[in-house]
Amino acid sequence: MAIPLTADQWLAALRAEGVTVEEYPGWRTRGRDAATGLTFGPVRMFLNHHTAGHGAKDTVAKNGVVGLPGPLAHVYLARTGVATMCSAGRANHAGKMASNAYASFRDEAKTHPAPSAASGTIDGNDVSYGVECENLGDNADIYPRAQYDAWVRINAAVCRHHGWSAESVGCHKETSVEGKIDPRGPVEGYGARGMFAFTPAQFRTDVTERLAHPATWSPTTPSPEEDDPMTLTDTDVKKVAAAVVEQLLTADRFDAPADAADYSADKTNAKHYWSGRSVFSDLVTRVRRIDRTLTALAKKLEA
Ligand SMILES: [Zn+2]
Repeated sequence: MAIPLTADQWLAALRAEGVTVEEYPGWRTRGRDAATGLTFGPVRMFLNHHTAGHGAKDTVAKNGVVGLPGPLAHVYLARTGVATMCSAGRANHAGKMASNAYASFRDEAKTHPAPSAASGTIDGNDVSYGVECENLGDNADIYPRAQYDAWVRINAAVCRHHGWSAESVGCHKETSVEGKIDPRGPVEGYGARGMFAFTPAQFRTDVTERLAHPATWSPTTPSPEEDDPMTLTDTDVKKVAAAVVEQLLTADRFDAPADAADYSADKTNAKHYWSGRSVFSDLVTRVRRIDRTLTALAKKLEA
């Protein structure tokens, strides 16, 4: 059980965790508490979502959608990794939660059963924080590395504040009895990991790892040297450069001009080709000829 974070506590917790935070105008007092007559809290878990669209910040923070007034989450997380605070009160994000799934997050169980409507339902907006992560949710749109990193940080910041474990972190598809599929999709990478598919289990593992470190911690990203221990010496680079230049100068690639000095060398070949070396040689010859002609012309004009 926990008393919901105040607006100032939200900002402090996220910033301490290294999240770049923006404040949506009016967010401190915007919520669904007064309109519903229901109180937000005590809070028991964190719930994660994808927006199923791009650029929906105004929708999430304020406007809502038909039949579901805003705010639609406490935090809107853009692809850039910037988090926008939308509400510190009650938000319309969780809908009905299956009681069996909810209990597993509330009790920080090691496993989380599939949501069963038969177990009963509760109003998830009473008891959970929510973040809406900007993503099409089509299993093709990629969560950029910066976005996933911020996502882990946001969940960890709230868990750290309340003293929760990562087993308090759930995903909409794990609690919904309304057929929600979010969040899902490929993640660009995280820490030493390259591309991977988002899964709630991996996400909780990443939040757990983060919580084992101070809030200022950042996951290690391998440097290019560690990625590829083969490093090139100056001698190697010169060898490669010489091979490239040799190819450029000797490969037959250029049409020879009809008046080329060596054109007669291959009369039987209607299309005669020059190597790069011949092209360069011909260029120098022609420039010198022009230079001589111009010099001679200048002398005549002076005379
Ligand atoms: Zn959702």
